[in-house]
Amino acid sequence: MALIVQKYGGTSVGSLERMQNVAARARKTQEQGHRVVLIVSAMAGETNRLLGMAHKLTPLPDARELDALAATGEQVSAALVALAIQAQGGKAKSFLGHQLKIMTDSAYTKARILAIDAGRLHEALDSGAIGVVAGFQGVDDAGNITTLGRGGSDTSAVAVAAALGADACEIYTDVDGVYTTDPNICPSAKKIDKVSYEEMLELASLGAKVLQIRSVEVAMKYQVPVEVKSSFSDTPGTWVVREDEALESTVVRGVALDKNEARVMLVGCDDKPGVVAKIFGALADQHIAVDMIIQSPSRHSNGRNGPSVDVTFTVNKSDLERTKLIVAGVLESVGGTAAEYDENVVKVSIVGLGMRSHAGVAAKMFALLAKEGVNIQAIATSEIRVSCLVESKYAELSVRALHDGFELGA
Ligand code: ASP
Ligand code: MG
Repeated sequence: MALIVQKYGGTSVGSLERMQNVAARARKTQEQGHRVVLIVSAMAGETNRLLGMAHKLTPLPDARELDALAATGEQVSAALVALAIQAQGGKAKSFLGHQLKIMTDSAYTKARILAIDAGRLHEALDSGAIGVVAGFQGVDDAGNITTLGRGGSDTSAVAVAAALGADACEIYTDVDGVYTTDPNICPSAKKIDKVSYEEMLELASLGAKVLQIRSVEVAMKYQVPVEVKSSFSDTPGTWVVREDEALESTVVRGVALDKNEARVMLVGCDDKPGVVAKIFGALADQHIAVDMIIQSPSRHSNGRNGPSVDVTFTVNKSDLERTKLIVAGVLESVGGTAAEYDENVVKVSIVGLGMRSHAGVAAKMFALLAKEGVNIQAIATSEIRVSCLVESKYAELSVRALHDGFELGA
C-alpha cells in the first residue's frame, strides 16, 4: 500500500464533468489499495477572473485582500471535488490551507511554506477518506490567508507529499509530460521519460511552464519523486527524480526558449576597479536579477585618458523600465557615455547533466548556431546549461537547429 498525492490543475478541474473524472481517477487509485490525497487548483480561468475584479476596483489592490480573494478559487474546487467523490459512493473530506495547517510566511501573493501539520489529513486517511486539499493557499502566524504565487498549487502538492512522506506526487495537467523542447516550435520534440531535479529546475526557470519552479526546489530538497502526466489519458508521463535515477547516456536533455529577457549595454565605461560593482550593486539594491553579463573593450573612447569598456547584461523584460532609471542614475559616475536597450532578443538554452562530463558541448552549440548564420550576442553557462542570447527573429530557427543537432527528436 502506498500513499499517493495527486495534483489536478485548472483545466483538469475545469468543469463538473472533469471533476467527476478526477473523482473517478482518485477512487480507482484508492481501490488499488493506496491512500490518496488530492491537491486541486481553481477551475481554469477562475484565478484570473478573481484578480481581474480586484483590479477593476483599484489599480493597486491591497495584497492581503488579493490573497483572501484568490484563495476562494481553490476552496470551490476542493469542496466540489470532495462532493463528486461522495456522489460516486466514495469517502472524501476537503481541507483549506488554514484547516490543515499549511503555515507560510506573510509575503502575500508569493508566500513560502514554512511547515505543514498533516495530522488532520492522516486522520482522514485513517478513516478511509480521500483528502482533498485546496492548493495555492496557506496561512501565516497571525491567521491571515496567503497564496504561494501563480502556479502555486504545484508547490502545495509537493510540500504536502513531503510532509506526508508520500511515495509519489503525481501532477496531472493538460500536457502528457515534459518535452525535449516546445512541440509547437519543433514537431519532432519527444516526451522525456525521466529528468533530474537539477535539469527540471533549469528548464522551469527557462520558461518550460509545466511546473512552478518552487515546487521543483521543494521536490529536490525533500527528494519527492514527481510524475507530470495528463489527466485526459493513461499514458505514462515524465518522472522528475534524483540524479542517479535519471541518468541516461544523453548529454543534452532539452532545449529551452526564453522570450522574457532584454539586453542592456552601458557604453564606454571606465576600465577600473569598482565600476561593475557599482552598476550591479545599484541593480541588486532594487532587487533586479541580472542573468547574462559581458564586459568587453569599448570601440568608443569615452574621451578621458585610459581604456574604456562596454558592460552588457540582461534583465527580465518586466524589470526593464526600473533598470533604465537605475542605469541613468549611475551611468555618469562610471564614465559611461551612453546606454542602449534591446528587447528584440531571446535566450536559447541547452540543458543536460551529461555536460558536466562531456567536453565540447558548448562548442557544438555555437557551431550549430553559426551554421544557420545566427549571431550570438551574449553567453551564460551553469554546470548543466549553456545559454545564448540571439536576435528574436532567429528564435524558432535556433531551437530547431539545436534540437536536431543534438539529436533530441523522435
Ligand atoms: N490557481 C492558481 C493560479 O492560477 C494556482 C494554480 O493553479 O496552481 O495561479
Ligand atoms: Mg500550473
